[in-house]
Amino acid sequence: MTSGSGRDTVSVRRHNLSTVLRHLHVNGPTTRTQLGKITGLTRSAVGDLVAELSARELVSESDVIAEFGRTRGRPSLLVAARADLARVLAIVIGDDTMQAAWVGLGGSVGAVAEVPHDYVPGDPEPSLDQLTALLRGQLRDSGHPPLAIGIAVPGLVRATDGAVALAPRLGWRELPLADELRRRIDVDAPLVTGNDSNFTALAEHLRGAGREHDHMIYLGCGLGVGGGIIVDGRLLQGGHPGYAGEVGHMVIGDGALPCYCGGHGCWETQVAADAVFRHAGVTVTGAHARKSALADLLARSERNDTAARDALTAVLPAFAAGVATLLSLFNPGRVILGGVFAHLLQHAESDLRTAIAYHRPVLSNGPVDLVPAELGVQGSLRGAAEAAVDAFLAGLRTGSTATPQAVRDAGSVAGRGSGSRTSRMPTRSPTGSAISTSNTGR
Ligand SMILES: [Zn+2]
Repeated sequence: MTSGSGRDTVSVRRHNLSTVLRHLHVNGPTTRTQLGKITGLTRSAVGDLVAELSARELVSESDVIAEFGRTRGRPSLLVAARADLARVLAIVIGDDTMQAAWVGLGGSVGAVAEVPHDYVPGDPEPSLDQLTALLRGQLRDSGHPPLAIGIAVPGLVRATDGAVALAPRLGWRELPLADELRRRIDVDAPLVTGNDSNFTALAEHLRGAGREHDHMIYLGCGLGVGGGIIVDGRLLQGGHPGYAGEVGHMVIGDGALPCYCGGHGCWETQVAADAVFRHAGVTVTGAHARKSALADLLARSERNDTAARDALTAVLPAFAAGVATLLSLFNPGRVILGGVFAHLLQHAESDLRTAIAYHRPVLSNGPVDLVPAELGVQGSLRGAAEAAVDAFLAGLRTGSTATPQAVRDAGSVAGRGSGSRTSRMPTRSPTGSAISTSNTGR
């Protein structure tokens, strides 16, 4: 690390603070000595950074422990993120519930509050009111402000301004969600919105089945198909940030079946709930009925009910064709499966692998690494928390006046004013979430 003056010095220090915090968040308690190795900083420089983070109630230090493996045992303080005070607020907007949980730096998830989501298709106002009430309640009860807020949305979220471009089941189009919430709640912290499947991918990458895999794809299948693609340890965002990874709408097969998106031949028309119902010979309408009918089929298949199992495995050829296409495009080290896809992996793995091999007999890196998701229903919640942590770190300031709360404007997603949108991630940031960062603050 070089030392300089003025802006450079501030920038370098911010980078170092962020690097230390991210390391503690992802890897857990770490000795000062190790932090020195990671940052390349001297012992005293590390001590100085830790002192600032400690004063800001972001980290704490505990017992002196002996570092072995050196010529002389050298004591080093163990530094840990303060999960008790340094927390983000994670929210998941579902189509029948909304969830909220406080998640500490380091990834510990607190109690999950769940409220019904009584949405009116096409009218976001009632949902916004419920969401505002949920947020206000959580903020009021916590006694300590969040470092940032992350919100997972079942739809396409534009990363440049945090707006929901399309949430098909809720009937939302061009809803400026981040702006609306900022207007309604009074909190001095970054607020970040993103697609729930992208967030799940992020969480599986950092905390679940994708740990140690910097190239991975998450694919979840229920009423629709959602996915997220991690490339080089980062969520793929695309040229229109936030819109990449819409795997459910890639075209597979003859392109004939109409999709709610207006297109034809989308993958999810051939593998998700409605396809399973077609194969089962039943017609189910309405989100709630479809959800419970699918859950029923999965449960019956788990009990080895032949008809239910057959209806599910009937989507296997189209499932395999989609996976083969993604393998060809992205060459992931691991593919993580949720919902119907995880069920098929569990109960028809051999057929699935045979079908994938039929499309892709030559794969550059040996056997395809297919595994079930580890985080289950908490995937998108944990991902929302990771996105929030990332937003906080991206807007981290330095200096004696910088408090955890003093990150105002740094993570504004709303695009107010004409400030710079230059995203200067101070450290490797895996989040591809809806945050625009103008790091103009000191
Ligand atoms: Zn579609």
